[in-house]
Amino acid sequence: MRIVILMILYTFLSCSGQSSKNQDVGRQLLDSSNVAALVTESDSIDIPLFAQKIITSYPLFDIHYEDNKLVFADGTKIVYDDGRNKEFKQMLDESDIEDMSSMQYGVEDSIPRYLNDCGRSRNEELFKKMYGNSEAAVRKNLVTINWFGQKLLFSKVNNAAEQLEKVASELTSYKQYKKYLTNASSFYWRKVRGANRQSAHSYGIAIDINTSFSNYWLWSNPRSSETDKIKYENKIPIEIVRIFEKHGFIWGGRWYHYDTMHFEYRPELL
Ligand SMILES: [Zn+2]
Repeated sequence: MRIVILMILYTFLSCSGQSSKNQDVGRQLLDSSNVAALVTESDSIDIPLFAQKIITSYPLFDIHYEDNKLVFADGTKIVYDDGRNKEFKQMLDESDIEDMSSMQYGVEDSIPRYLNDCGRSRNEELFKKMYGNSEAAVRKNLVTINWFGQKLLFSKVNNAAEQLEKVASELTSYKQYKKYLTNASSFYWRKVRGANRQSAHSYGIAIDINTSFSNYWLWSNPRSSETDKIKYENKIPIEIVRIFEKHGFIWGGRWYHYDTMHFEYRPELL
């Protein structure tokens, strides 16, 4: 409630076309001890920004943050930050929720920066809680969508399937892109190639478009380790990528370890 009051106050003072003087007053109001008057006890103002992103991106679960944990409406608690310093590979293999925010999703970058793989870190507890903790559990949440004449299974949880349908409907008007989109695949309960962590395809929230026009870092660099320098390759038109991103999907072509056929429903990163 107090947060709501603060947000209304801030919106009123800073976004409603007031003079800069009034904006200064607004800032002073928020920066000074007046905040203490409005927020009298430790409150949701202490919630880390990325925890807030998770909460607002997945409203179905009515998640709140408490004592370094995300708490679901049914009482399930998942540790937010395990406090460990991790090397690159550990960020992928042993990701806590906070690690998922350790890289920036680079919508501005034409070529991904070295080791920027935003989205490849997934806290398995969180994804299994939301989408299902076994193949059978995930399957219960799958629905069939029409993808350019092909039937694809996708999770209805968090409206992921509905968002993918919006992508399909928007891409339909670009006839020249159809060849990139056909022969797609989606749900497959499996581990990431060469790793012991679950692939996003396991949860029914990822789609691979036509592999004939795709590049994957391990296809081009079969003997590379995760920290080797590799050369970027991509053939997927950026217009396709932007339409996916508009509807909550990240693109594997923005990863240093590129996977340009791969799109994944991750609204918390956009
Ligand atoms: Zn994929």
